[in-house]
Amino acid sequence: GFKCGIVGLPNVGKSTLFNALTRTAAAQAANFPFCTIEPNVGEVSVPDPRLNELARIAGSRQIIPARLTFVDIAGLVKGASKGEGLGNQFLANIREVDAIAHVLRCFEDDDVTHVEGRVDPIADAQTIETELMLADLESVERRLQGLARRLKSGDKEARDQDRLLRMAAEALEQGRPARTVAVAEEDARAWRALQLLTAKPVLYVCNVDEASAATGNALSEKVAAMAAEQGAASVVISAAIEEEIAQLDDAERAEFLAELGLSEPGLDRLIRAGYELLGLRTYFTVGPKEARAWTIKAGTRAPQAAGVIHGDFERGFIRAETIAYEDYVACGGEQGAKEAGKMRIEGKNYEVADGDVLHFLFNT
Ligand code: GDP
Repeated sequence: GFKCGIVGLPNVGKSTLFNALTRTAAAQAANFPFCTIEPNVGEVSVPDPRLNELARIAGSRQIIPARLTFVDIAGLVKGASKGEGLGNQFLANIREVDAIAHVLRCFEDDDVTHVEGRVDPIADAQTIETELMLADLESVERRLQGLARRLKSGDKEARDQDRLLRMAAEALEQGRPARTVAVAEEDARAWRALQLLTAKPVLYVCNVDEASAATGNALSEKVAAMAAEQGAASVVISAAIEEEIAQLDDAERAEFLAELGLSEPGLDRLIRAGYELLGLRTYFTVGPKEARAWTIKAGTRAPQAAGVIHGDFERGFIRAETIAYEDYVACGGEQGAKEAGKMRIEGKNYEVADGDVLHFLFNT
């Protein structure tokens, strides 16, 4: 599955947020740095109103949403790249995730200690980014040295790696994260294989005070401006409120959200933003038994999309009966779409579109 790592300085609200996300008591919040010792892993459902609509039309007995994995990564402090705090463990854990949700403290509360003794989300973001850049620079330099011998023997793969590593080094030495490097399409795979920490996409999560949950505040506005500058995304959330919301039943939740002026829980926005950040798309399979959302990378072709359900579907792939979500809804379901000529037969080169309702035919 696809993994999004939650990072941030101690006491910014990571555990609170993770608790709310997974609705478990497994990641206990505490007003103490390093309280999160092991990376906590939680799977969440991706909220998608389209799935409910499809299930309603088809009369599906069960709804199975797409899933996304969040990893609560152990606390990072200044000096982590030199092994301070849980530094090395933190860096190893972050290497494993596909994208980063970076939680920034945008709330004032004298009862909650700030590791630097002040609330400044921009400076906090830079503290973490600097540690990640230092760690990347060290690993880039180590790998460049390691390549020296292979380069002399004229190894093409080594030459490519060397070129990409030098591009990364140049950016990092100028204080820019690796994600700012423009990488050619044909280098994309080799670039990803370098697994640089600062090459991963980032979503800034502004943890605001309860009163600012719907509107954001001056601090979250600063973060939004910084994110826009970097081509990153940002969301506003109140972790404390989300934790409360997570404990309510559906009726209570709707009432509570209305009181706060929110149209949906902030977590729903966060999960969707994470999904977007990972470049993920959804297709659906719909029948009387179940309506189900499946996750693919943008640009995935029909056989590989089928392979997400089962390897046999990919190996024996023949064709995919395809109805766009809008057509499915407008025609009142599969039969109506068929009669209106809205069901397409797509072959193995078809790039699955977000929202496609698919039925695969395959050889066994
Ligand atoms: P972590 O170290 O980043 O995982 O931070 P925690 O989630 O453990 O939170 C640290 C402390 O800040 C706890 O005492 C939380 O109750 C508190 N906290 C977290 N989010 C909020 C918030 O939105 N508002 C306020 N006032 N306190 C919060």
